Amino acid sequence: MNAVPRPAVAPDPLAAWRLTDAPWYTPQADEVEVFEAAHARRLPVLLKGPTGVGKTRFVEHMAWRLKLPLVTVACHEDLGAADLVGRWLLEADGTRWQDGPLTLAARHGAICYLDEIAEARADTTVVLHPLADNRRLLPIDKRNELVAAHADFQLVVSCNPGYQSFERSLKPSTRQRFCALSFAPPRPEHEQQIVMREGGVEADVAERLVALAARTRRLRDEGLEEGASTRTLVHAAQLIGQGLSPRRACDLAIVQPLTDDPALAEALQGLVDACWP
Ligand code: ADP
Repeated sequence: MNAVPRPAVAPDPLAAWRLTDAPWYTPQADEVEVFEAAHARRLPVLLKGPTGVGKTRFVEHMAWRLKLPLVTVACHEDLGAADLVGRWLLEADGTRWQDGPLTLAARHGAICYLDEIAEARADTTVVLHPLADNRRLLPIDKRNELVAAHADFQLVVSCNPGYQSFERSLKPSTRQRFCALSFAPPRPEHEQQIVMREGGVEADVAERLVALAARTRRLRDEGLEEGASTRTLVHAAQLIGQGLSPRRACDLAIVQPLTDDPALAEALQGLVDACWP
């Protein structure tokens, strides 16, 4: 009978969170240098800005540059402290503790990115506060354990001030623990470069999509919650690359996702028609 060989080294608990390919990111300003400075002192970073402007891609890029695993959590209204910290699991032969994503990152040394943190339940701030100041401690009450964060651990969160209600915005006591970097839609020539590279289209198609996005962003005054983001332009470009007509691609990737309101959809369609008469 062959004995199963025991692994020589313990499995890497962060293996699933290591980036294997370099994420392409083109900076808007000095955000790469600023993040590196914050990382050098392990200061927590808050990324502010509307959806689809490159916040997630930026963190992925920085984790890659800094050669660190990136543990990402998409926050939502039901997400509470236990989802971040961990829980006891009931098993046939007893109970077993399972670290949550925040604990995993703090214990073993990773960047932990909490996307849309203001969406999470208020009890998450209880665990974030001692981690996000110079104590760098994560209390795990259910286990009666106090985890001192690994030297490589860094906390990064994002929020979208545009669509948060006052109650949902971060409290000053939380915000003031973070260095905050603001993201806005890229400048036109910059956005065109992103759409060409990510969407795989020629310069003239990218230029028209970028011009269209700029016009949709002005529709905010008419009641549109958010204009077309760089993400939607990349999607439209990818559909055009697949052979869809630009008008059909814009309908699928921009007009329909942006609104359910018939009048606003018509207004958006008018902008598409103006770009592709
Ligand atoms: P956010 O996290 O702000 O919602 P993402 O980081 O997911 O947005 O960006 C959406 C998409 O836009 C990315 O997948 C990428 O294709 C593109 N993108 C936006 N900004 C950049 C940038 N500066 N460099 C490279 N790609 C970008």
